[in-house]
Amino acid sequence: MSGTSIAWHLLMESNATKVPRIAILEARQACSGATGRNGGHIRPSSYEEYVDAKQVTTQDQAAKITKFRANHVDALLGAAGRLPAQERRAASVRPVDSLDVYFEEEPFAEAVRQWETLRKEVPEVGNEWGVLQRDEAVRISMMPDAVGALTGTAKVAGAIWGYRFVTNSLKMLLDAYPESLSLDTHTTATAVTAASSDKNSTHNFAVTTDRGTILANHVVYATNSWSPHFVPILGNALAGGLLSMSAQLGGAGVSVSSLSRFQAGFCPISPKTYTLVILAFYADSLPQLPKPGQWPAYHNNVSLPGGRAWSLFLRGGLDYIVQNPENGEYMFGGGAGIPEPPEGSRNQYDDSVLPAPATASYLNGALPAYFGYRNWGPERTDFPADLHQDVIYPGRTKRVWTGVEGFTTDALPFVGPLSKEFTNRAVRSPAAGGEWVSAGFNGEGMDYAWLSGKGLSEMIRNHMANATNEALYEWFPTAFLPTQERLRKQNSTTSVVRRSAGRGSRRGQFEL
Ligand SMILES: Cc1cc2nc3c(=O)[nH]c(=O)nc-3n(C[C@H](O)[C@H](O)[C@H](O)COP(=O)(O)OP(=O)(O)OC[C@H]3O[C@@H](n4cnc5c(N)ncnc54)[C@H](O)[C@@H]3O)c2cc1C
Repeated sequence: MSGTSIAWHLLMESNATKVPRIAILEARQACSGATGRNGGHIRPSSYEEYVDAKQVTTQDQAAKITKFRANHVDALLGAAGRLPAQERRAASVRPVDSLDVYFEEEPFAEAVRQWETLRKEVPEVGNEWGVLQRDEAVRISMMPDAVGALTGTAKVAGAIWGYRFVTNSLKMLLDAYPESLSLDTHTTATAVTAASSDKNSTHNFAVTTDRGTILANHVVYATNSWSPHFVPILGNALAGGLLSMSAQLGGAGVSVSSLSRFQAGFCPISPKTYTLVILAFYADSLPQLPKPGQWPAYHNNVSLPGGRAWSLFLRGGLDYIVQNPENGEYMFGGGAGIPEPPEGSRNQYDDSVLPAPATASYLNGALPAYFGYRNWGPERTDFPADLHQDVIYPGRTKRVWTGVEGFTTDALPFVGPLSKEFTNRAVRSPAAGGEWVSAGFNGEGMDYAWLSGKGLSEMIRNHMANATNEALYEWFPTAFLPTQERLRKQNSTTSVVRRSAGRGSRRGQFEL
């Protein structure tokens, strides 16, 4: 998402006579990193994130960050609106019902306190949130163990099919700017060197790939957790962490006990024959857990057709669900409450591995426990048989997989210019270009990444025009800029990591 956003904004917002030439290098297939593997939330939990951000930056910056993240719903809806109709439908950017459900009293009480702070200090975001006490939380979330919930309006809660949004955006850009943009997939950048020693070159940098070398004036690292490969000092505060996801069918929504009561009550003569008849009837018309648009509503008397998204706060961890509006399937991720594999999930960079057995078992089993067996009912296994037969499991769970997110020790991304202090590379002509980074988006990263790409592209354009970033910093948080101070501060002690620094490692201690 980062690389695509930077290219999108550089191309679409540049003066027509000054459209830059951009080469995107992708080590694997397009959108094969975290963006193509994630849960699809565009849904910051603003109340908690605001209070946490105040711990690592000023109140003014924390407010800016909170608004910046909440604005992603609008920004991504707007971006999707510029895609051709079919691509727009595929990208599935949509407002959703939004529930943060709590299962323990004290964390819920703390969340309510945080919301009150947000409402007081950043009312334009705080007023988009509301609180449901226990009975309402249970009724609306359909999760019997809920002790309370915070709900967001559609203005601050969206969902997206990240892979489809990014690949369709790339296609649109490649079609619109054939002379200015290239995309090389399966092309790993292995090194970046200063071209200053090469007398024949007029460029600042040489980017070595496994398919040849590219000369460039600017180099932008949109390589998330893998960025320290090129800028090792960033590794003081940025690392990869392995997260796990699944795609599942919801339960059939009729509890087995009510089904048998129904059979018993209506089988006076020949129970066996009668049972068969009733089951045949049910097989045809089993209600499922509610379809998108049919959940108990909590605002405006409707449940949104874009589906429902939950963050589930359980035992200090975080699980999350997003419902697919087309088929009602659930994207379910998390599993932090369970023991980690011996090597842990930190400092992991290989997303070709499957979730550890304990995590996979948790993902497979947790949903009926959340919804309660009565709401969940019998299992469904009716994935379309002809769909990717090689990868679809025959049971309720279609697939489980992993992705690597880029953790940072203060849970804020690094977005901005990289001076020689960071890179150890001299720039032949600073006026002509330099090195830049947009990475470290943590576990709720899409609501940082898209507008960070816009911000970075504006910085690059300002640099080229010899203009200041004053107007940009009206909305872009300077707390994201890479500074030596951020690296030093974070490296000196173990930091408290916010929930967003790894869905699931909520308030854990993060050491690199
Ligand atoms: C399982 C999981 C679930 C998540 N759920 C959510 C969610 O629901 N909502 C949310 O907002 N966020 C979520 N996140 C976080 C979010 O996905 C990321 O923060 C965000 O997508 C980061 O985007 P990015 O473009 O910076 O990085 P990435 O999408 O990781 O892209 C980086 C790209 O760089 C490429 N690359 C790396 N090194 C090189 C090299 N040397 N040469 C060429 N190419 C290279 C990689 O192949 C990759 O494609 C989740 C993350 C994971 C892993």
